[in-house]
Amino acid sequence: MNSNMIAKNLQHIKSNLPENVTLVAVSKTKPISDLQEAYDEGQRIFGENKIQEMVEKYDVLPKDIQWHMIGHLQRNKVKYMAHFVDLIHGVDSFKTLKEINKQAKKHDRVIRCLLQARIAEEETKFGLTFDEISSILASEELLELKNINIVGFMGMATFTDNQQQLKGEFLSLKNFFDTLKVNHPSLKTLSMGMSGDYQLAIENGSNMVRVGSSIFGNRNYNT
Ligand SMILES: *Cc1c(COP(=O)(O)O)cnc(C)c1O
Repeated sequence: MNSNMIAKNLQHIKSNLPENVTLVAVSKTKPISDLQEAYDEGQRIFGENKIQEMVEKYDVLPKDIQWHMIGHLQRNKVKYMAHFVDLIHGVDSFKTLKEINKQAKKHDRVIRCLLQARIAEEETKFGLTFDEISSILASEELLELKNINIVGFMGMATFTDNQQQLKGEFLSLKNFFDTLKVNHPSLKTLSMGMSGDYQLAIENGSNMVRVGSSIFGNRNYNT
């Protein structure tokens, strides 16, 4: 992408973002030079969906970047990012929480996690049902995992232009989040919304958006 486009896109998006909403710049598949440009524009939170790619970028970019893992997790690779990852969005099993805890402990860290909720219609989307999330949060075993902190939920809506449907999906997770927050004050973050739907997600309760192509341009291959 032509270089000052990234800066312009970022300025544009940030100028329209409410103060309480955190912008994750989704830089998957993009070269280091693109991330550096966003960094130079003040962006400090980047999202990647492949652990290996995130590690390679972490190694060469400034160390005050907060790295978010937004992709589906392979448990056997958690160890490669445990020393630096700031927030893991896509946790969808208790087994994965245990692995994150184990790897975080080796580095004497507490890793922040979001549980991924399934809100989309599509069968293919990963995620936990609301019942599964409730039972994880209520489980005794969770208390033993001292090196993770569940700070909220992540959801991906159905890939559709139907605004009513998207709104319904975002709102269902927002309502669930608000209900659970009463007994779980550590829940603060609701990660919903991507380039195509982040404004609608914010209107319906999101306080963290994951925006890729609207900042960095289209990706060459779809991931
Ligand atoms: C790629 C990706 C995004 C960003 O998608 P854009 O449409 O490019 O903004 C957000 N969230 C997840 C989980 C992704 O994999």
